[in-house]
Amino acid sequence: MKAILLKRGREKSVLRRHPWIFSGAIAKIEGHPKQGETVDVLASEGALLARGAYSPHSQITVRIWTFDPREDVSSEFFDGRLRQAVEARRSLMSGDGPAGVRLINAESDGLPGIIADRYGDFLVVQFLSAGADYWKGAVVETLMRLMSVSGVYERSDAGVREKEGLPKLAGTLAGREPQDLVEIREGSCRFLVDIKRGHKTGFYLDQRENRGMIAEFARGTEMLNCFSYTGGFGIAALRAGAEKVTNVDTSAGALDLARRNAEINGVDASNLESVEGDAFAVLRRWRDAGRAFDVIVLDPPKFAESQSQLARASRGYKDINLLAFKLLRPGGILFTFSCSGLMSPELFQKIVADAALDAGCEAQIIRRLAQASDHPTLLSFPEGSYLKGFICRAASNL
Ligand code: SAH
Repeated sequence: MKAILLKRGREKSVLRRHPWIFSGAIAKIEGHPKQGETVDVLASEGALLARGAYSPHSQITVRIWTFDPREDVSSEFFDGRLRQAVEARRSLMSGDGPAGVRLINAESDGLPGIIADRYGDFLVVQFLSAGADYWKGAVVETLMRLMSVSGVYERSDAGVREKEGLPKLAGTLAGREPQDLVEIREGSCRFLVDIKRGHKTGFYLDQRENRGMIAEFARGTEMLNCFSYTGGFGIAALRAGAEKVTNVDTSAGALDLARRNAEINGVDASNLESVEGDAFAVLRRWRDAGRAFDVIVLDPPKFAESQSQLARASRGYKDINLLAFKLLRPGGILFTFSCSGLMSPELFQKIVADAALDAGCEAQIIRRLAQASDHPTLLSFPEGSYLKGFICRAASNL
């Protein structure tokens, strides 16, 4: 029997159904499990608490598949979990046109390390932990059966694979290889997704609902879409009547795709300005030049990868938000986000407040934002909440 025995007093997190067991909580490993294999999780006095995947190279030595000692981890197990996750997204896939939907959200769907996103006729998957990688074949086979798509493409080229002692991988796993750009529909917008070369699995689906909210504020405005990627927030704003959108990103490829996205949405290309460069430098230059916008979106990449980077990340968020408040016209609207899981909403709010204060701008939070509903957070896994944002309105009497 392959098993791990917990140290005395270290059962608490398992009893609270948290899916991670850190190496420091383990007293003994029995039966020489191989990387990714399923092990029984035993309390210090021997009771069977759960079953999980063994990952010898990671600080997170076990990721729990099931807390039900009667449940075996088998192809049937994955069939059940995958079905449940897919069913919960049916309504998101029922509209007109090809959907862009996260079908499997790892730990929060009871499937640690497994991500699956649907873009039209294709699935894009990531296997980010040893256990996920071990069951890859069964997961792909089940997804093909459940989804009737043209192909499944793997983007397991994320850095976190290294912590698990796994190589980075990408390529077609089933069906046919996706074409270079796959179209999805989002609200009244359409977007081209670069599955093979784009960030993550190709698109930031977690911002879907927040992109949908820009329409309310966009009509007749001049908008700065900072950290634009392929233009999502800007296209949504132009479709809703924004007069002009300026995209800023370091990636020339993302800006090119943003222009193509503008084309397929029938918005006037002359209303779209693209600026390739570091947002911190670009915004500083525009502040000095006295440039101003009615609506600003700040959606930077993850600044904090670990607790030790949090202080530096906080300064980054403060700087970029300060610059945004300086560029915002009186009465203007700022959508500001942090996708660093280690940054709490409370700390982020303090940072945004400090930024406004230093910019000499009085502002209100008029809405709090989070990741879209197809990126749920399991209550027993609060780490699953990573995206937070505020819609702020600057006072109009400055
Ligand atoms: N809002 C986008 C997603 C943004 S992801 C959407 O709705 O799709 C973050 C983006 O920031 C990426 O496109 C990345 O290329 C860009 N980026 C990273 N560092 C940057 C920097 N210093 N200046 C400008 N852009 C940057």
